[in-house]
Amino acid sequence: MSEKESGGDFRYAVGESKVPWHAVGEFYDGKDAVEMVKFLLPATGDPAYAAQTEKVAEEIKKLAEVGGKATKLTLGRKVAEAEQISRSYFGSKYACFLDNWTGGMEIAYKLAGIGPGDEIIMPAITFIATMAYPLSVGAKIVFADVDPETINLDPADVARKITPKTKMIVPVHLGGCPVDMDPIMELAAKHDIIVMEDAAHGMGGAYKGKKLGAIGHFGGFSLHEVKNINSFGEGGILLSNEDWAGPQFPGARFLGLDFSRKIKDWLYDISPLTDRYGKPQVALNHSATEIQALGLLLQMQRLDQIIAMRKAAAEYMNSVLSQEDGILVEKADTAETYSTHHLYLLRIDPEKVGGNIQQLSKKLAEKGLTNITHFGPMYRFKIMKDLGYDENAIAATCPVTEKMFYHSYTHLPLYPLTREQLEYQAQAVVEAVREMKQGK
Ligand SMILES: *Cc1c(COP(=O)(O)O)cnc(C)c1O
Repeated sequence: MSEKESGGDFRYAVGESKVPWHAVGEFYDGKDAVEMVKFLLPATGDPAYAAQTEKVAEEIKKLAEVGGKATKLTLGRKVAEAEQISRSYFGSKYACFLDNWTGGMEIAYKLAGIGPGDEIIMPAITFIATMAYPLSVGAKIVFADVDPETINLDPADVARKITPKTKMIVPVHLGGCPVDMDPIMELAAKHDIIVMEDAAHGMGGAYKGKKLGAIGHFGGFSLHEVKNINSFGEGGILLSNEDWAGPQFPGARFLGLDFSRKIKDWLYDISPLTDRYGKPQVALNHSATEIQALGLLLQMQRLDQIIAMRKAAAEYMNSVLSQEDGILVEKADTAETYSTHHLYLLRIDPEKVGGNIQQLSKKLAEKGLTNITHFGPMYRFKIMKDLGYDENAIAATCPVTEKMFYHSYTHLPLYPLTREQLEYQAQAVVEAVREMKQGK
């Protein structure tokens, strides 16, 4: 494999030798491998644990005597393999495996040439990571309202908020539920706007025959530990089909190191990224480790199965909750759109229930349920006020966001809940709603 294919860093660019260059780094050994196993499979208090780990330690010691040592720990074969599999699974021409998805979005924003004064349209409800880079360079975030059924970006409101300064639209497939992408791609084509899909929860979902993340000019996934598929805690994948952008991914990930060129008497050159407007941009470091890539490869083997389990859990929640008046169940998959069912979107009709979602959430917490309400209106955070945004003026342009967030929705977990936990959760929601109806 050439350095270019691996996305190359400098450590192996010197080739084979009797005294290897990689010897400048400390190696891991058998003892470290035992600790790694114990970390992934920690003690639970079962008295058999100590004896079992002892056995494993002995076997690993024997293995270490006959095995070699991993010498390539970052940007090597596993990273290349993760990218290869991503290209074929998502049907995307270019794929880049990175430290996290916030880094992937930074690269896409940079290649799209986002700078001060440019406008980026995104849903008012997402996670701060979606807007971190544009805010950091003085671009302006324009919040579009959400669809009350999915809490996803509403294409009709995007259309209303496009101006000559709009440079990007960033749909977020919240909870893995596909955004209605066709009207967004049409608007983008009409106004020459770049679309980046934040598919942080969407790995494996699909919209009209295309995988989420592979529909826009850019798209990608978070592999953080709380996502539907992860890579030992942190990770991300950036996808593109664009020939002006994709070939720049390896340089964008690792400080612009360019092995296709060399300065005199040295191994490589440093090239800037060339953004959409032909301007140079400076690359930072978003390299990911081989262990992270291994984590992704292992979980990707069971991705379809994971989604099937989540879907079955969501269907169960729908079947129970649809019995109770005032609870609005999650949108089901259709022949054209498949959610990853990363989170269950629970909505209520406050009038029928006689109270709002804040009251319901409190009741659910008392019954021992975790509800994940951390996707809130972005314009309410202190950082926005400090940067000069007027939260109330923005709120007035996002009435559905206001109504849904304060009165109607929350997210519940689906998997890997056990059947018992899932049944308890569904029943608890029904009971809490009944109590509210009785004014309790
Ligand atoms: C998790 C998340 C991200 C950021 O992903 P990281 O890999 O943690 O950087 C971006 N957008 C949304 C909607 C997320 O939930």
